[in-house]
Amino acid sequence: MTSENLTQLRNRIDEINDQLLDLLNERTALVEAIGREKDKQGLKKYDPIREQQIIEKLREKNQGPLTDEMLIHVFKEIFKVSVKLQEEKSHKKGLLVSRKNKLEDTVIDVQGDMIGDGEPTFVFGPCSVESKEQMERVAKNLSEKGLKYIRGGAFKPRTSPYDFQGLGIEGLKMMSEAAKKYGLRVVSEIMDAGDLEAALPYVDVIQIGARNMQNFSLLKALGHINKPVLLKRGLSATIEEFVNAAEYIAMHGNPNVMLCERGIRTYEKATRNTLDISAVPILKRETHLPVFVDITHSTGRKDILLPIAKAALAVGADGIMAEVHPNPMLALSDANQQMSLEEFDLFYKKLRN
Ligand code: PEP
Ligand code: MN
Repeated sequence: MTSENLTQLRNRIDEINDQLLDLLNERTALVEAIGREKDKQGLKKYDPIREQQIIEKLREKNQGPLTDEMLIHVFKEIFKVSVKLQEEKSHKKGLLVSRKNKLEDTVIDVQGDMIGDGEPTFVFGPCSVESKEQMERVAKNLSEKGLKYIRGGAFKPRTSPYDFQGLGIEGLKMMSEAAKKYGLRVVSEIMDAGDLEAALPYVDVIQIGARNMQNFSLLKALGHINKPVLLKRGLSATIEEFVNAAEYIAMHGNPNVMLCERGIRTYEKATRNTLDISAVPILKRETHLPVFVDITHSTGRKDILLPIAKAALAVGADGIMAEVHPNPMLALSDANQQMSLEEFDLFYKKLRN
């Protein structure tokens, strides 16, 4: 073959390459459009049946010299990069709660108090609402410290059905009354979507407990209210599952979601749960939502609350939750882990210094 001949053939190859490039780009634009349509319809990007059908058709048409093996190889590569492109595009769009979607931190307005604005938020109070007197004593103590929130469960997710289940709406009324008197905002758990409407007048932040993190019908119902939600991490939930649970609420119309790391189940018995401290900066990076740490349920022990609270703030938590009870020994739930008012005074003083 003369070198002139080779040049001619190469020129023709270059021409074909140009055509292939144009065709591949035209194909890629279609792949992108199909990806958007799949997103709308909630379909998977990878469709092996469709790929098989395309290959069969091409094989029937193939006249050679390209062998079937080469044909399959080339098209499998094209399919692979196409699916990858569709997945990347749809990821870029990301979840509503994702940083990819919104760069700035979400700051949540709770009756004029801003959560997630850089100043830490503190939510303290008993495990359960038990009486008017109990709530009065806790609320008074909190307001004397200049605190703005009180917590207390009226619908309690108890392991044993024979244990105290909470005072329900009556309990919320008790807490709301004490909170009003001392200018506090109420954080309380709701377990059943059916209780939401009755509870809303008495609660400023709806807490969703660990056991209900993946109660999807409850999460959807929270999307339809306009009160902020404090979503706790499930007992054995991965960070991805946690973020997706928050997405349920946001996707259904309520963007005011806060996340609360409260420890996960591991083999370790020294603490009630294992506080996943690294979840805090990860959640802050991956989402734009405020992140809390519940130092009581994660540790289940009072002797390490102070260093754990400091650690949580050091890694970027927007808020801390802890249990405080006027008489922990007589508490109707979580008696061993709640701080007395005296212990709380000392804890808070040291935390703020
Ligand atoms: C609570 O905060 O009252 C509670 C029950 O916590 P968790 O859902 O994290 O166990
Ligand atoms: Mn508790």
